[in-house]
Parts: sequence; C-alpha cells; structure tokens
Amino acid sequence: MKKKPRLSLSTLAIHGKHLHAFRGPVAFPIYQTSTYRFEDSHDAIRYAQGDPSVYVYTRYHNPTVNEVEDRIALMEGGDAAALFSSGMAAISTVILSLCHTGEEIVSTPALYGGTYRFFRDHLPEYNIHVKYVNPSSLEDLLYLITPRTRVVYLETPTNPTLDIVDIQKIVTTTRKVEKELGSSITVVIDNTFATILNQDPFAYGVDIVVESSTKYLGGHADLIGGVVVGNKKLIPQVKKHAKYLGGCADPFAAFLLDRSLKTFALRVQCQNKNALTLARALKKHTKVRRVFYPGLPSHPQYRLARRQMNGGFGGMVTIDLKGGVKAAVKLCDNLRIAINAMSLGGVETLVSIPVYSSHVNMSNEELARHGVTPGMVRISVGVEGIEDLIGDFRQALKKV
Ligand code: PLP
Repeated sequence: MKKKPRLSLSTLAIHGKHLHAFRGPVAFPIYQTSTYRFEDSHDAIRYAQGDPSVYVYTRYHNPTVNEVEDRIALMEGGDAAALFSSGMAAISTVILSLCHTGEEIVSTPALYGGTYRFFRDHLPEYNIHVKYVNPSSLEDLLYLITPRTRVVYLETPTNPTLDIVDIQKIVTTTRKVEKELGSSITVVIDNTFATILNQDPFAYGVDIVVESSTKYLGGHADLIGGVVVGNKKLIPQVKKHAKYLGGCADPFAAFLLDRSLKTFALRVQCQNKNALTLARALKKHTKVRRVFYPGLPSHPQYRLARRQMNGGFGGMVTIDLKGGVKAAVKLCDNLRIAINAMSLGGVETLVSIPVYSSHVNMSNEELARHGVTPGMVRISVGVEGIEDLIGDFRQALKKV
C-alpha cells in the first residue's frame, strides 16, 4: 500500500514540489529547446558517465516536461512519472518495455479501441500475445496467467459501457499466481476515464498507471499527451525505451498540461456532478432504452463502484437509444451545446457514436463481446451549466 500524501490533490496539482519556494516564476516557463549548451566538455563527459543532472537533448529530458512529470507523480502517489506525446505512445512504450518476444499479456477485454487494436494487430508481429479474462470471473486469472505472462492489463470504468472491473481482485489474484510461479508480473491500469480524483489504483497495489493526458488531465481539447506513473524501478525502464521509441512529450504540450493541472480537481469535481445529474435526467426519458453510469443505483456494479471510485463516478455517461443508430445520429446532429466530436475529458461536452468512433472496424462478434450496440451515444460531460445541458439533450431528443 502506498503512503498517504500529506496534502490534498488540489494543492499538489497547483504547487507540486514548489510549495515552500521563495523565488522563481509562479508559472513554470517553457524550455522550448531541442538541445542544451554544455559549459565545457566536462559536461559531456559527466553525461557519458551517467550523471542525470546534465541536460543534453529534449528527447531525453527537458525541464518543463520534468516539472510536469514530478507534479503528476506527486498527485498520483507514484515515485516517478514519464510524459509522452500521446496516450498511445505511453501505452505502447510501457508494453514494449515490459514484454519481449514469446511473452504474454492477460487483459480485460473492454479496452480503448486503439489499445485493443494495438494488442490485436501489432503485438502478434512481435510474437507477444494477449489473452482476455472475463471481468465477471476474475478467478480465471489463476489459469490464464502462465510463466510467460509479463503484464496484467486493465481499464475501469470501461469504454463505452462503463462497466466496473474489480481492481483489488485483479491485483490479489495476480500476486497469488505470481508467488506460485516465482515470476514477475506488472499490473498496468489505464486510469484515463476515472482519473486520480475518482480512483486511486496505487492504493490497491497496481504497479503502473497510464493515462491519456489528452483527456481529463489536459481538459481543454487543445493538447495530445500521455503519462506513465510508477515506482523507481519501472519508470527508468520505461524512460529508457521511450528514448529509442521516441514518443517523448513536446515542451509546449507539457506547458499546456502544467497549466491544466492547476484546475484539474475543480474541473473533474464539476464533471462528476454534471454527469450524475444528466444521467438521472436521461434515465427518465422515454426515447432512452438504457443509461450506463456507475453512479446510478441501477448500474449492475454500483456497490463496487461506490467502494472503488471514492471521489465520484466520473464524467462519462453512455445512453442506448430505442431507435438504434438512426436515432443516435439524429441526436448527435441536433445537439446545440454538446459538440459532435471524438475524444473526452474536456470542459466542453462531447458526444460520439461508438460504432462509428472508438469501436469502428470491429466485427459484430467483437461488438457484442464489448456490449456495444448501434444505438449507443457516449457523452463526455463538460462543465457547462447543467440546466443548459439537460435542456439541450431534451430538445435534441424531441427531434429523434
Ligand atoms: N486510453 C483511453 C481510455 C482513451 O480513451 C484514449 C483515447 O481516446 C487513449 C488511451 C489514447 O490516448 P491518445 O489519444 O492521447 O493517444
């Protein structure tokens, strides 16, 4: 179990390690440089001898990027963090730094589409294979994990059905098999949907947290980024691979993320509240077959969600419309405040149709396995006035 931080998430997100600093800028500057002057060649020698304090080249390290890494590590309660150019750069680098040819991953099946396709289409080319565990029978991990398993990977809540996977059970079962096999398995979670405000994976003994910082951490639909948080042994291993795979964060994107972190808690608290209110309102609508939101008592894993998501239930709501895909298209085309656009986690409410976005290029069998229906609309609830949002959905649903 991790140590409880002394300060609140908001304070850490705003001040980071500079809480007691007396001098220096309030806003951390952008070091918009690709390379660094050496004072003399001794700097180059010190770098060659492995001194990490010598700045050499921005793909290796950059002060703005490092500032944000340190702040996110503090917020998430990890030892260290690594920033990437996208969530997919973070995920692919983590996997390729942990798995080698002939090794295996065991994963929950409902994943972000990009991750799922990376597992399905690319990893087999490296002779790395992924097996899927049914989240409702996690004891199957006992036989799915083999001596070749290097990673157990999960996402919760899932996209777009917002199912809840029991993190504690995954970690406990994995540790049990790991002990029996005498092997080393890294448990990796994609915490993009919940964020650290709502769900604290390290408290359950997860080893690595990955997040697309394009989403809630960034929060303004103006940057692409990813982050990996973990311990002192794993993060240097991930950073070593990041150097060669090249998905490092750009200093300007890091600066934007630095700015976003300061309002992260405010934004996500508001999104939690708006999402719950919108989910309750949509549940009563006659044209809506079903509302998927872990904060509704009708959600099949409501009790687990209450235990595991201790800050709130997140800003994502999915609805399934009685009129199928035609109704989903009509709804999206008639919203006036909510924007018809992919992505999530920003201050603006966005809607998307999973069969045309995150779950495109999947067979009917794969869609059924992921519980995705043609009438689904995924809503990333923003921070607009909630009465305006409810009114917007009501007027658009009238036209469906
Ligand atoms: N993980 C989740 C849960 C996502 O929703 C996304 C993108 O939508 C990603 C990872 C990938 O992030 P990025 O688009 O920043 O590469």
